[in-house]
Amino acid sequence: MKKYKLNDIVSLKKGHPCGENKWKIERMGADMKLRCLGCDKIVWMKRIDFDKRIRKIKDKNDKFVSIVNYNPEED
Ligand SMILES: [Zn+2]
Repeated sequence: MKKYKLNDIVSLKKGHPCGENKWKIERMGADMKLRCLGCDKIVWMKRIDFDKRIRKIKDKNDKFVSIVNYNPEED
């Protein structure tokens, strides 16, 4: 499963302690670099953990959709 890509905005199972739960994917690899859009802090997370924690993703219409229903290839 690799539906997300660089610069996508996602929400996770748990939000950041600052209260926000929107994250921008700034680097992809075995470790994921995420920026909290609430306070601009950077969090690194293992890919395997990220895949377990990702819940929603912002689609091209700027709406958050569940990752299980998200299909970036669809029009
Ligand atoms: Zn934050």
